[in-house]
Amino acid sequence: MRHALIGVSALLFSTPALAASGEAVNPWVALAYLIAGVLFILALRGLSSPETSRAGNRYGMIGMLIAVVTTLVTHDIASLPEIGVAIAIGGGFGFLMARKIAMTDMPQLVAGFHSLVGMAAVLVGVAAYLNPGAFGILDGAGEILTVSRIELGLGVAIGAITFSGSVIAFLKLNGNMSGAPIMLPARHVINLGVLTAIIGLTGYFSVMPTADSSTIFWVILALAFAIGFLLIIPIGGADMPVVVSMLNSYSGWAAAAMGFTLGNTAMIITGALVGSSGAILSYIMCRAMNRSFISVIAGGFGAESGPADGAEKIDRPWKRGSAEDAAYMMKQAENIIIIPGYGMAVAQAQHALREMADLLEEEGVNVKFAIHPVAGRMPGHMNVLLAEASVDYDKVFELEDINSEFAQADVAFIIGANDVVNPAAKTDKSSPIYGMPVFDVDKAKQVFFIKRSMGGVGYAGVDNEVFYMDQTMMLLSDAKKMCEEIVKAL
Ligand code: NDP
Repeated sequence: MRHALIGVSALLFSTPALAASGEAVNPWVALAYLIAGVLFILALRGLSSPETSRAGNRYGMIGMLIAVVTTLVTHDIASLPEIGVAIAIGGGFGFLMARKIAMTDMPQLVAGFHSLVGMAAVLVGVAAYLNPGAFGILDGAGEILTVSRIELGLGVAIGAITFSGSVIAFLKLNGNMSGAPIMLPARHVINLGVLTAIIGLTGYFSVMPTADSSTIFWVILALAFAIGFLLIIPIGGADMPVVVSMLNSYSGWAAAAMGFTLGNTAMIITGALVGSSGAILSYIMCRAMNRSFISVIAGGFGAESGPADGAEKIDRPWKRGSAEDAAYMMKQAENIIIIPGYGMAVAQAQHALREMADLLEEEGVNVKFAIHPVAGRMPGHMNVLLAEASVDYDKVFELEDINSEFAQADVAFIIGANDVVNPAAKTDKSSPIYGMPVFDVDKAKQVFFIKRSMGGVGYAGVDNEVFYMDQTMMLLSDAKKMCEEIVKAL
């Protein structure tokens, strides 16, 4: 929903509005934008829990409809057919991409969309700088207003950082670039220097005569593109989820900056909501990963162990089980905790898994689902899939609410999860996931671990001690196929 808010607002509000052209804002327009803003807040509130998320989505859609209609009615400069053509081209591409994209590729799609918001902010800023008269940001002496220069400098800088950072995140998530941190020597000094230069130059840009400011403007833009790239390349392994939500936040601030340049209240509200909710989500994810925000931004954690390029293969004994073994043992169990992960999404095994859980419950087994905050490849990934398979919300538990129950569990059933159950996060300081809280599956009496092969690794690319535990039985198969076979055996 937050991405939709930004996307639609960027498309529709990108005509200089009445305020920007120096005219008084129509109070009805202001009221309509205010109502839309309140509905967006209710939307975000609704999205905070699965039970209220549908209502939240509806609030968001109504709010966006009000904002869009208001903008179209009061549009300035561009004609309705021009706006219509722009919407048709952008919307058409978006529609086709969303139809074609696999659920497992959603994170890269989201990163790609963030890059577009960043680029939109840059283009609006550049257009306003090159043609300030059309945006109503000139003073009586023909100079760009000081406040508009600050907005322009910050707007293009945030937009450019969002663009290049999101492109790198896209390449990493899409596998076109190694997920391992890429460490430049003296990167902290370089990053700090570039950031200081951007802030300093923006200050200088805001006070110098417009006619002499063009070099400074383009230098700010170039440095911002560079820093987006520099900030994201050293981030790797398990820190990517934070990066994705951080870039989401940046895209919100970029849109808010665009809103100031265009004098559009709805864009400022929408951008600020996306920016702040993305920042809060990043903070929550950092807490879930046991990382400080600064250490994620500074990047490079776990570089020495070279994550995400394949784990070193260790020849150790492990046990292989079959669907029949799993069905037999789970039928005897009293308490089972299911831990879904990225592999469940790849296999689209959620429906077969729910069928399996239903059958076990009919046998009197108590079945719970445990969701790690970074399981899968995007925030809430597992919640969405389980909801799609109609798993009751009251059987789904967050890490901190269920982790203590593994000691009483007869079975921990791991389906396509790996990093989120890896005990190296607790014990191995050199591991790229060290410090991240993980499920204590080692405390369960029996562990079933579904994955396709012993060679495959999780996102962080490290071996997992759970494979070799006495109580672990590896169920090597595609997750959906294995669940269907267990259902048959049950
Ligand atoms: P992991 O990526 O750690 O592990 C996925 C597991 O699924 C692997 O063991 C893989 O093994 C198995 N698998 C893949 N396809 C199938 C299939 N078709 N059938 C059965 N098994 C399959 O997943 P987790 O959910 O445990 O961890 C998420 C990781 O992703 C964390 O490191 C997190 O930091 C990172 N991340 C999370 C994001 C988020 O926002 N949630 C965003 C970006 C990264 P095999 O190949 O052998 O089958």
